[in-house]
Amino acid sequence: MSKLSVRDLTLSGKRVLLRVDFNVPTEDRNGVTHITDDTRIRESLPTLELLRSAGAKVILMAHFGRPKGTVNLKYTLRPVAEHLAKLISAPVGFSPEVVGAVPAELISKMANGDVLLLENVRFHAEEEANDSTFAKALASLGDIFVNDAFGAAHRAHASTAGIAQHLPQAAMGLLMERELQYLHGELSKPASPFLVILGGSKVSDKIGVIKALMEKANTFLIGGAMAYTFYRALGIPTGKSRVEADKIALAQEILELAKRKGVQFLLPVDNLETQEISATAQPRPTGLLSAGKGISEDWEAVDIGPETIQRYRTEIATAKTILWNGPLGIFELPPFASGTRAIAEAVASSHAVTIIGGGDSVTAVKQFGLGDKMSFCSTGGGASLELLEGKVLPGVAALSER
Ligand code: ADP
Ligand code: MG
Repeated sequence: MSKLSVRDLTLSGKRVLLRVDFNVPTEDRNGVTHITDDTRIRESLPTLELLRSAGAKVILMAHFGRPKGTVNLKYTLRPVAEHLAKLISAPVGFSPEVVGAVPAELISKMANGDVLLLENVRFHAEEEANDSTFAKALASLGDIFVNDAFGAAHRAHASTAGIAQHLPQAAMGLLMERELQYLHGELSKPASPFLVILGGSKVSDKIGVIKALMEKANTFLIGGAMAYTFYRALGIPTGKSRVEADKIALAQEILELAKRKGVQFLLPVDNLETQEISATAQPRPTGLLSAGKGISEDWEAVDIGPETIQRYRTEIATAKTILWNGPLGIFELPPFASGTRAIAEAVASSHAVTIIGGGDSVTAVKQFGLGDKMSFCSTGGGASLELLEGKVLPGVAALSER
């Protein structure tokens, strides 16, 4: 990785503007905001602690929710400052204003190792517009920019990209560095066999990823609703399963591309189908696909079947690199989660480098308690997909070269 890392910097006494992803899920209980999952805050702690112990003054920038460019205290970051203080067992200052005299005054009083969180950068419309005057005002509060907000790196905003132009050093934080190491570094020359497991709801969301990875992967294992658009391309009946009717030709094109490139492109050979989408449904196995026989009329495929699980396990066991994006069934409902769970278990126990990218896939893996068994679980949904598509992320491009 040619980008400057926070590990390369001289930090003592420096005012470091650290962009983090604190966009956590919250819940209102009697007018008090409670953070229901603080994973994102915890994930920023290694960089934060590195900066503090090196004697930097840490000024945190983050967005929260969608206040649409105006001050809306429903989206204040103040509760996050309080929560962070508990996590690091140290005071965390809070600036109710993002730029100007108020934060400047608070920052002038900071000692080395102190932490201050600025109010929601999205209270200013200039943030998402990547306005250069606003980016400059943010930059004037510090000496160095560090970006650890991988989940926001696919957006060119003032606090993720624009700010870098106004400071001499712009470095990646530890979380950002790990994301790039796995989703970019490991996958640029993957140990083969390189296996890609793809599922999720739509082919259309994943076309860019399929095309980019077709150049490198040896095998694709397909599941989730996207499988049934491929079925239609092959003339296999899909019953009431979710199909993207306008993507059937494209599915056909992908199947042909795989054949031409000698890439193994496996679709489920059996499925679970149901007439009712609910937590108490009892789906039935379709049995093996055969000529003209697929998903039953009036039934919907909601998970991969036992024979598919068996075949996919065999592929997983021999792979050296595994990338997984997209659940293989409607895993949110327990009766339809068994395929996703079985594949998660197989991936977890493989000896390959295992990388999980995508919001729902990571949720599924963690829900099964297997997050720690993977080499890496990405924290960015949209950002990880764009990186896998081979796109340059503006938040990464803006960083200084090493
Ligand atoms: P990720 O966030 O990991 O990229 P996606 O957002 O593409 O994954 O897809 C996740 C969604 O796909 C889940 O909400 C899941 O319920 C849905 N899904 C998976 N299989 C099916 C299916 N057979 N029918 C309908 N929806 C499905
Ligand atoms: Mg998703």
